Amino acid sequence: MSADLTDLVARGVNGSRLASRHNALAAIGALHPQGLCREAFSAADAEARGLICDWAAASGYVASIDAIGNMFFAHPGADPTIAPILIGSHIDSQPAGGPFDGQFGVLAAWEAFEALHESGLPLRRPVEVAIWANEEGSRFQPTTMGSAVFARRLPLQRALAATDTAGRTVAAELQRLRASLGEIRDRALGFPVAAYVEAHIEQGPILERRGIPIGVVTSIQGLRWFTVEVAGRTGHAGTTPEADRRDAFVAAHNMIRRLRDLMADPEDVVRFTIGRFEVHPNAPNTIPGSVLFTIDFRHPDAAVLKRLGDQVEQICREAGGPQCQVTITETLDSPPTILDEELAGAIARSADELGIRTEPMTSGATHDAKYLAMVCPTAMLFIPCRDGISHSVLEHADPEHVELGTRVLAGALGLIASDGR
Ligand SMILES: [Zn+2]
Repeated sequence: MSADLTDLVARGVNGSRLASRHNALAAIGALHPQGLCREAFSAADAEARGLICDWAAASGYVASIDAIGNMFFAHPGADPTIAPILIGSHIDSQPAGGPFDGQFGVLAAWEAFEALHESGLPLRRPVEVAIWANEEGSRFQPTTMGSAVFARRLPLQRALAATDTAGRTVAAELQRLRASLGEIRDRALGFPVAAYVEAHIEQGPILERRGIPIGVVTSIQGLRWFTVEVAGRTGHAGTTPEADRRDAFVAAHNMIRRLRDLMADPEDVVRFTIGRFEVHPNAPNTIPGSVLFTIDFRHPDAAVLKRLGDQVEQICREAGGPQCQVTITETLDSPPTILDEELAGAIARSADELGIRTEPMTSGATHDAKYLAMVCPTAMLFIPCRDGISHSVLEHADPEHVELGTRVLAGALGLIASDGR
Protein backbone atom coordinates (compact mmCIF):
# COMPACT_ATOMS: atom_id res chain seq x y z
CA MET A 1 0.00 0.00 0.00
CA SER A 2 2.66 2.55 1.00
CA ALA A 3 4.61 2.06 -2.24
CA ASP A 4 1.44 2.91 -4.17
CA LEU A 5 0.84 6.01 -2.05
CA THR A 6 4.36 7.29 -2.51
CA ASP A 7 4.23 6.69 -6.22
CA LEU A 8 0.76 8.18 -6.61
CA VAL A 9 1.79 11.52 -5.14
CA ALA A 10 5.43 11.62 -6.33
CA ARG A 11 4.32 10.89 -9.90
CA GLY A 12 2.29 14.11 -9.82
CA VAL A 13 5.43 16.23 -9.37
CA ASN A 14 5.86 18.23 -12.53
CA GLY A 15 9.52 19.11 -13.14
CA SER A 16 8.92 21.79 -15.73
CA ARG A 17 6.25 23.50 -13.61
CA LEU A 18 8.70 23.44 -10.71
CA ALA A 19 11.51 24.89 -12.86
CA SER A 20 9.38 27.68 -14.26
CA ARG A 21 8.23 28.67 -10.76
CA HIS A 22 11.86 28.62 -9.64
CA ASN A 23 12.84 30.97 -12.46
CA ALA A 24 9.93 33.33 -11.81
CA LEU A 25 10.66 33.55 -8.08
CA ALA A 26 14.45 33.76 -8.53
CA ALA A 27 13.96 36.82 -10.76
CA ILE A 28 12.62 38.81 -7.80
CA GLY A 29 15.60 40.37 -6.05
CA ALA A 30 18.02 38.86 -8.58
CA LEU A 31 21.57 40.21 -8.53
CA HIS A 32 23.59 40.48 -11.71
CA PRO A 33 25.20 38.45 -13.10
CA GLN A 34 23.99 35.95 -10.44
CA GLY A 35 22.73 35.59 -6.90
CA LEU A 36 19.85 37.00 -4.93
CA CYS A 37 19.20 39.86 -2.51
CA ARG A 38 15.77 39.43 -0.93
CA GLU A 39 16.16 40.40 2.68
CA ALA A 40 13.27 39.99 5.09
CA PHE A 41 10.36 42.45 4.82
CA SER A 42 12.03 44.29 1.91
CA ALA A 43 10.25 45.33 -1.29
CA ALA A 44 11.63 42.19 -2.97
CA ASP A 45 10.30 39.99 -0.14
CA ALA A 46 6.89 41.64 -0.55
CA GLU A 47 6.97 41.16 -4.34
CA ALA A 48 7.93 37.47 -3.99
CA ARG A 49 5.10 36.90 -1.53
CA GLY A 50 2.76 38.70 -3.94
CA LEU A 51 3.75 36.33 -6.75
CA ILE A 52 3.07 33.30 -4.55
CA CYS A 53 -0.31 34.79 -3.57
CA ASP A 54 -1.07 35.09 -7.31
CA TRP A 55 -0.27 31.39 -7.76
CA ALA A 56 -2.53 30.59 -4.80
CA ALA A 57 -5.38 32.69 -6.23
CA ALA A 58 -5.02 30.96 -9.61
CA SER A 59 -5.38 27.55 -7.92
CA GLY A 60 -8.10 28.65 -5.48
CA TYR A 61 -5.89 28.19 -2.40
CA VAL A 62 -6.53 30.24 0.72
CA ALA A 63 -3.68 32.50 1.88
CA SER A 64 -3.30 33.72 5.46
CA ILE A 65 -0.69 35.68 7.43
CA ASP A 66 0.06 35.87 11.15
CA ALA A 67 1.24 38.76 13.30
CA ILE A 68 4.96 38.27 12.55
CA GLY A 69 4.42 37.78 8.82
CA ASN A 70 4.51 33.99 8.50
CA MET A 71 2.25 32.97 5.60
CA PHE A 72 0.18 29.84 5.08
CA PHE A 73 -1.59 28.43 2.06
CA ALA A 74 -4.45 25.96 2.46
CA HIS A 75 -6.71 23.97 0.18
CA PRO A 76 -10.22 25.50 0.19
CA GLY A 77 -11.71 22.16 1.25
CA ALA A 78 -9.49 21.85 4.33
CA ASP A 79 -11.24 21.49 7.69
CA PRO A 80 -9.98 24.45 9.76
CA THR A 81 -10.74 22.67 13.05
CA ILE A 82 -8.11 19.96 12.43
CA ALA A 83 -4.45 20.77 13.14
CA PRO A 84 -2.72 20.73 9.73
CA ILE A 85 0.54 19.20 8.56
CA LEU A 86 2.80 22.06 7.49
CA ILE A 87 5.42 21.83 4.74
CA GLY A 88 7.59 24.76 3.76
CA SER A 89 10.66 26.89 4.38
CA HIS A 90 11.50 30.58 3.78
CA ILE A 91 11.90 32.93 0.81
CA ASP A 92 14.00 35.68 2.37
CA SER A 93 17.71 35.62 1.50
CA GLN A 94 21.06 36.92 2.63
CA PRO A 95 22.05 40.28 1.07
CA ALA A 96 24.37 38.39 -1.30
CA GLY A 97 22.70 34.98 -1.30
CA GLY A 98 21.39 32.51 -3.82
CA PRO A 99 17.97 31.36 -5.06
CA PHE A 100 17.99 27.92 -3.36
CA ASP A 101 18.49 28.55 0.37
CA GLY A 102 14.87 28.57 1.53
CA GLN A 103 13.36 29.07 -1.90
CA PHE A 104 13.93 25.43 -2.85
CA GLY A 105 12.03 24.27 0.25
CA VAL A 106 9.06 26.55 -0.42
CA LEU A 107 8.80 25.55 -4.09
CA ALA A 108 9.27 21.85 -3.32
CA ALA A 109 6.49 22.17 -0.73
CA TRP A 110 4.28 24.02 -3.21
CA GLU A 111 4.77 21.36 -5.88
CA ALA A 112 4.26 18.51 -3.38
CA PHE A 113 1.10 20.25 -2.14
CA GLU A 114 -0.25 20.48 -5.69
CA ALA A 115 0.73 16.89 -6.48
CA LEU A 116 -0.98 15.71 -3.29
CA HIS A 117 -4.27 17.38 -4.15
CA GLU A 118 -4.09 16.41 -7.81
CA SER A 119 -3.61 12.78 -6.75
CA GLY A 120 -7.09 12.74 -5.18
CA LEU A 121 -5.68 10.81 -2.20
CA PRO A 122 -8.05 10.88 0.79
CA LEU A 123 -6.34 12.94 3.51
CA ARG A 124 -6.44 12.20 7.20
CA ARG A 125 -5.32 15.74 7.95
CA PRO A 126 -5.20 18.97 5.98
CA VAL A 127 -1.82 20.06 4.61
CA GLU A 128 -0.67 23.66 4.30
CA VAL A 129 2.36 25.32 2.78
CA ALA A 130 4.19 27.57 5.26
CA ILE A 131 6.56 30.45 4.46
CA TRP A 132 8.43 31.49 7.60
CA ALA A 133 9.28 35.18 7.94
CA ASN A 134 12.85 36.43 8.34
CA GLU A 135 14.71 33.14 8.54
CA GLU A 136 18.03 34.71 7.57
CA GLY A 137 18.27 37.41 10.20
CA SER A 138 20.72 39.43 8.11
CA ARG A 139 18.62 42.60 8.18
CA PHE A 140 16.68 42.13 11.43
CA GLN A 141 18.01 39.95 14.26
CA PRO A 142 17.55 37.29 15.44
CA THR A 143 17.57 34.64 12.72
CA THR A 144 14.57 32.29 12.33
CA MET A 145 12.46 35.12 13.73
CA GLY A 146 9.11 34.01 12.29
CA SER A 147 9.32 30.41 13.45
CA ALA A 148 10.71 31.44 16.86
CA VAL A 149 7.73 33.76 17.43
CA PHE A 150 5.35 31.07 16.11
CA ALA A 151 6.78 28.55 18.61
CA ARG A 152 6.55 31.18 21.38
CA ARG A 153 10.29 31.18 21.98
CA LEU A 154 10.60 34.85 21.06
CA PRO A 155 8.09 37.47 22.26
CA LEU A 156 6.17 39.03 19.36
CA GLN A 157 6.70 42.56 20.65
CA ARG A 158 10.46 42.09 20.81
CA ALA A 159 10.55 40.79 17.24
CA LEU A 160 8.38 43.67 15.98
CA ALA A 161 10.66 46.20 17.69
CA ALA A 162 13.85 44.88 16.00
CA THR A 163 15.46 47.53 13.77
CA ASP A 164 17.67 47.39 10.70
CA THR A 165 20.79 49.54 10.28
CA ALA A 166 18.63 52.35 8.83
CA GLY A 167 16.49 52.37 12.00
CA ARG A 168 13.38 50.89 10.38
CA THR A 169 11.41 48.49 12.57
CA VAL A 170 10.01 45.07 11.69
CA ALA A 171 6.57 46.41 12.69
CA ALA A 172 6.67 49.24 10.14
CA GLU A 173 8.14 47.13 7.35
CA LEU A 174 5.68 44.32 7.96
CA GLN A 175 2.77 46.75 7.84
CA ARG A 176 3.96 47.99 4.45
CA LEU A 177 4.43 44.42 3.20
CA ARG A 178 0.94 43.42 4.33
CA ALA A 179 -0.62 46.41 2.63
CA SER A 180 1.07 45.39 -0.64
CA LEU A 181 -0.59 41.97 -0.48
CA GLY A 182 -4.14 43.37 -0.50
CA GLU A 183 -6.90 41.28 1.07
CA ILE A 184 -5.44 38.43 3.09
CA ARG A 185 -6.76 36.46 6.03
CA ASP A 186 -5.37 36.91 9.53
CA ARG A 187 -4.02 33.78 11.12
CA ALA A 188 -3.60 33.08 14.83
CA LEU A 189 0.00 33.02 15.97
CA GLY A 190 1.20 29.55 16.96
CA PHE A 191 -1.93 27.60 15.95
CA PRO A 192 -1.73 23.82 16.62
CA VAL A 193 0.31 21.90 14.05
CA ALA A 194 0.23 18.11 13.60
CA ALA A 195 3.63 17.79 11.91
CA TYR A 196 6.18 19.84 9.97
CA VAL A 197 8.38 18.76 7.06
CA GLU A 198 10.99 21.02 5.46
CA ALA A 199 13.16 20.44 2.41
CA HIS A 200 16.37 22.49 2.08
CA ILE A 201 19.71 22.52 0.31
CA GLU A 202 22.39 20.98 2.49
CA GLN A 203 24.57 24.13 2.61
CA GLY A 204 27.54 21.81 3.13
CA PRO A 205 29.59 19.44 0.95
CA ILE A 206 28.75 15.98 2.34
CA LEU A 207 26.00 14.79 -0.02
CA GLU A 208 27.82 16.03 -3.12
CA ARG A 209 31.09 14.39 -2.08
CA ARG A 210 29.40 11.07 -1.43
CA GLY A 211 27.22 11.20 -4.52
CA ILE A 212 24.00 10.83 -2.48
CA PRO A 213 21.01 12.84 -3.74
CA ILE A 214 18.96 12.97 -0.49
CA GLY A 215 19.97 13.52 3.12
CA VAL A 216 17.47 12.53 5.80
CA VAL A 217 18.14 14.95 8.66
CA THR A 218 18.08 13.30 12.06
CA SER A 219 19.20 16.27 14.15
CA ILE A 220 20.18 19.93 14.02
CA GLN A 221 23.36 20.61 15.91
CA GLY A 222 23.33 22.81 18.99
CA LEU A 223 25.28 26.02 19.35
CA ARG A 224 26.69 28.32 21.98
CA TRP A 225 27.74 31.89 21.38
CA PHE A 226 30.07 33.91 23.57
CA THR A 227 31.29 37.48 23.48
CA VAL A 228 34.72 37.99 25.05
CA GLU A 229 35.83 41.49 26.05
CA VAL A 230 39.46 41.98 26.99
CA ALA A 231 40.50 45.18 28.73
CA GLY A 232 44.21 46.07 28.89
CA ARG A 233 45.88 49.49 28.65
CA THR A 234 46.90 51.52 25.64
CA GLY A 235 50.49 52.66 25.51
CA HIS A 236 53.23 53.87 23.19
CA ALA A 237 54.44 51.06 20.91
CA GLY A 238 57.98 52.43 20.86
CA THR A 239 58.60 53.24 24.49
CA THR A 240 56.68 50.74 26.67
CA PRO A 241 58.89 47.89 27.96
CA GLU A 242 57.50 44.36 27.73
CA ALA A 243 56.99 44.05 31.50
CA ASP A 244 54.86 47.20 31.58
CA ARG A 245 52.54 46.22 28.79
CA ARG A 246 48.92 45.26 29.24
CA ASP A 247 48.36 44.32 25.62
CA ALA A 248 44.75 43.25 25.02
CA PHE A 249 45.59 41.80 21.61
CA VAL A 250 48.32 39.53 22.99
CA ALA A 251 45.96 38.34 25.73
CA ALA A 252 43.18 37.66 23.20
CA HIS A 253 45.64 35.86 20.94
CA ASN A 254 46.62 33.58 23.84
CA MET A 255 42.98 32.85 24.56
CA ILE A 256 42.22 31.96 20.96
CA ARG A 257 45.31 29.72 20.70
CA ARG A 258 44.24 27.80 23.79
CA LEU A 259 40.60 27.67 22.68
CA ARG A 260 41.69 26.27 19.31
CA ASP A 261 43.63 23.55 21.19
CA LEU A 262 40.58 22.77 23.30
CA MET A 263 38.32 22.54 20.24
CA ALA A 264 40.75 20.51 18.11
CA ASP A 265 38.82 17.47 16.88
CA PRO A 266 40.42 14.72 14.78
CA GLU A 267 36.94 13.64 13.71
CA ASP A 268 36.11 17.16 12.46
CA VAL A 269 32.71 17.36 14.10
CA VAL A 270 33.37 20.39 16.33
CA ARG A 271 32.66 23.73 14.65
CA PHE A 272 34.51 26.63 16.26
CA THR A 273 34.58 30.11 14.74
CA ILE A 274 35.83 33.52 15.84
CA GLY A 275 33.73 35.57 13.45
CA ARG A 276 34.21 39.04 14.88
CA PHE A 277 37.44 40.48 16.20
CA GLU A 278 37.72 44.14 17.10
CA VAL A 279 40.89 45.85 18.30
CA HIS A 280 40.94 49.29 19.90
CA PRO A 281 42.18 51.82 19.19
CA ASN A 282 43.39 49.96 16.08
CA ALA A 283 46.34 52.28 15.49
CA PRO A 284 49.68 50.96 14.16
CA ASN A 285 51.84 52.53 16.85
CA THR A 286 49.61 52.06 19.91
CA ILE A 287 49.45 49.00 22.18
CA PRO A 288 45.86 47.72 21.91
CA GLY A 289 43.91 48.74 25.02
CA SER A 290 40.89 46.55 24.39
CA VAL A 291 39.68 43.70 22.23
CA LEU A 292 36.24 42.25 21.64
CA PHE A 293 35.77 38.91 19.92
CA THR A 294 32.91 36.47 19.42
CA ILE A 295 32.84 32.68 19.60
CA ASP A 296 30.41 30.51 17.61
CA PHE A 297 30.72 26.92 18.82
CA ARG A 298 28.53 24.10 17.45
CA HIS A 299 28.20 20.37 18.01
CA PRO A 300 25.44 17.78 17.51
CA ASP A 301 26.04 16.19 20.94
CA ALA A 302 24.62 18.07 23.95
CA ALA A 303 27.24 16.53 26.28
CA VAL A 304 30.15 17.76 24.13
CA LEU A 305 28.53 21.16 23.78
CA LYS A 306 28.40 21.37 27.57
CA ARG A 307 31.83 19.88 28.33
CA LEU A 308 33.79 22.06 25.89
CA GLY A 309 31.59 25.15 26.11
CA ASP A 310 31.81 25.19 29.89
CA GLN A 311 35.63 25.50 29.67
CA VAL A 312 35.58 28.65 27.54
CA GLU A 313 35.29 31.06 30.44
CA GLN A 314 38.09 29.55 32.52
CA ILE A 315 40.47 29.34 29.57
CA CYS A 316 39.88 32.96 28.66
CA ARG A 317 40.43 34.08 32.26
CA GLU A 318 43.66 32.10 32.60
CA ALA A 319 45.00 33.19 29.23
CA GLY A 320 44.13 36.81 29.96
CA GLY A 321 46.66 36.64 32.78
CA PRO A 322 46.90 39.23 35.47
CA GLN A 323 47.56 41.96 32.88
CA CYS A 324 44.11 42.09 31.36
CA GLN A 325 40.58 42.09 32.64
CA VAL A 326 38.30 39.62 30.89
CA THR A 327 34.51 39.70 30.61
CA ILE A 328 32.79 36.71 29.04
CA THR A 329 29.10 36.82 28.13
CA GLU A 330 27.25 33.81 26.81
CA THR A 331 24.78 35.31 24.34
CA LEU A 332 23.18 32.10 23.05
CA ASP A 333 22.86 28.55 24.34
CA SER A 334 20.77 26.46 22.00
CA PRO A 335 20.70 22.69 22.52
CA PRO A 336 20.80 20.20 19.64
CA THR A 337 17.41 19.39 18.11
CA ILE A 338 16.47 15.76 17.64
CA LEU A 339 14.02 15.39 14.76
CA ASP A 340 11.13 12.94 14.64
CA GLU A 341 12.11 9.37 13.80
CA GLU A 342 8.79 8.32 12.37
CA LEU A 343 8.64 11.28 9.97
CA ALA A 344 12.29 10.75 9.00
CA GLY A 345 11.31 7.14 8.33
CA ALA A 346 8.58 8.33 5.94
CA ILE A 347 11.14 10.39 4.01
CA ALA A 348 13.57 7.46 3.84
CA ARG A 349 10.77 5.11 2.76
CA SER A 350 9.56 7.51 0.10
CA ALA A 351 13.09 7.77 -1.34
CA ASP A 352 13.54 4.03 -1.11
CA GLU A 353 10.35 3.33 -2.97
CA LEU A 354 11.37 5.81 -5.66
CA GLY A 355 14.77 4.11 -5.94
CA ILE A 356 16.70 7.12 -4.63
CA ARG A 357 19.65 6.71 -2.27
CA THR A 358 19.59 8.51 1.08
CA GLU A 359 21.89 9.05 4.00
CA PRO A 360 21.02 10.10 7.54
CA MET A 361 22.77 13.32 8.56
CA THR A 362 23.02 16.13 11.07
CA SER A 363 22.26 19.67 9.96
CA GLY A 364 25.18 21.99 10.52
CA ALA A 365 23.04 25.08 9.96
CA THR A 366 20.04 26.21 11.95
CA HIS A 367 16.61 26.10 10.31
CA ASP A 368 13.01 27.03 11.05
CA ALA A 369 12.54 23.29 11.66
CA LYS A 370 14.41 23.78 14.93
CA TYR A 371 11.57 25.86 16.36
CA LEU A 372 8.82 23.78 14.79
CA ALA A 373 10.37 20.73 16.47
CA MET A 374 9.53 22.39 19.79
CA VAL A 375 5.82 22.34 19.00
CA CYS A 376 5.24 19.29 16.76
CA PRO A 377 6.94 16.22 15.26
CA THR A 378 9.33 17.62 12.63
CA ALA A 379 11.49 16.27 9.81
CA MET A 380 13.82 17.65 7.15
CA LEU A 381 15.36 16.43 3.96
CA PHE A 382 18.43 17.87 2.22
CA ILE A 383 19.54 17.93 -1.39
CA PRO A 384 23.16 18.60 -2.41
CA CYS A 385 24.35 22.06 -3.42
CA ARG A 386 27.37 22.71 -5.61
CA ASP A 387 30.68 22.66 -3.70
CA GLY A 388 28.63 22.88 -0.49
CA ILE A 389 28.39 26.65 -1.03
CA SER A 390 25.49 28.67 0.39
CA HIS A 391 24.97 32.24 1.67
CA SER A 392 26.80 33.21 -1.51
CA VAL A 393 25.91 34.39 -5.00
CA LEU A 394 27.67 31.20 -6.17
CA GLU A 395 25.03 29.00 -4.50
CA HIS A 396 23.65 26.44 -6.95
CA ALA A 397 21.66 23.22 -6.88
CA ASP A 398 21.36 20.79 -9.78
CA PRO A 399 17.82 20.88 -11.30
CA GLU A 400 17.84 17.09 -11.22
CA HIS A 401 18.40 17.12 -7.44
CA VAL A 402 15.74 19.81 -7.02
CA GLU A 403 13.23 17.56 -8.77
CA LEU A 404 14.31 14.39 -6.94
CA GLY A 405 14.07 16.14 -3.58
CA THR A 406 10.61 17.40 -4.48
CA ARG A 407 9.49 13.89 -5.48
CA VAL A 408 10.77 12.43 -2.23
CA LEU A 409 9.02 15.19 -0.27
CA ALA A 410 5.78 14.60 -2.18
CA GLY A 411 5.99 10.84 -1.66
CA ALA A 412 6.65 11.28 2.05
CA LEU A 413 3.74 13.70 2.28
CA GLY A 414 1.52 11.07 0.69
CA LEU A 415 2.52 8.65 3.44
CA ILE A 416 2.17 11.16 6.27
CA ALA A 417 -1.07 12.85 5.22
CA SER A 418 -3.08 9.88 4.04
CA ASP A 419 -5.09 7.31 5.93
CA GLY A 420 -2.67 4.62 4.99
CA ARG A 421 0.28 5.88 7.00
ZN1 LIG B 1 17.61 28.54 4.77
